[in-house]
Amino acid sequence: MPRPAIRIEHLPYAGALAGRDAAAIDTVVIHCTELPDLATAREYGERVLYPDSGTGNSGHYYIDRDGAVVEYVPPARVAHHVRGWNPRSIGIELVNRGRWPHWLDSRHQAMDEPYTDAQLAALVALLQELCARFPALAQVAGHEDLDTGEVEASDDPALTVRRKRDPGPLFPWEQLLARVPLRRL
Ligand SMILES: [Zn+2]
Repeated sequence: MPRPAIRIEHLPYAGALAGRDAAAIDTVVIHCTELPDLATAREYGERVLYPDSGTGNSGHYYIDRDGAVVEYVPPARVAHHVRGWNPRSIGIELVNRGRWPHWLDSRHQAMDEPYTDAQLAALVALLQELCARFPALAQVAGHEDLDTGEVEASDDPALTVRRKRDPGPLFPWEQLLARVPLRRL
């Protein structure tokens, strides 16, 4: 099987993120960017949100709509992509609008952009590669499975919406799980 072509474009602060042992990595978290395109996701990823460490929020890998895979953070470092699970997980972000640009508007929660076949194929190849490289990797979860918090809706304080809904209802879980040696958490 051909190895997936991964473009290495590390974030400027990647070297400041905590390191970890390969044995600590047992979970993959699937996200979508909830942004219009990869360039905007890069902009968000580069933002410094934690002045003490000079780091911010991002996944390790980004998969564009055409199936291009880019590594923003090496998997041997802890990226900030999910509450409570960062030290043990690899975050993979699929480019998809999600609820952009009205993320918390109660009338805008559908997440109706389909994922592309090229994205799914690239994700499968990337996961197969990561499973070969990190033998402790055994489970996969959606961000929405791990962060179930609710917040006040931006359009009506009497309503609540999910803080995180990605990858959302259109993510093809069955197709993915049939093709990678991971169980869904
Ligand atoms: Zn997410």
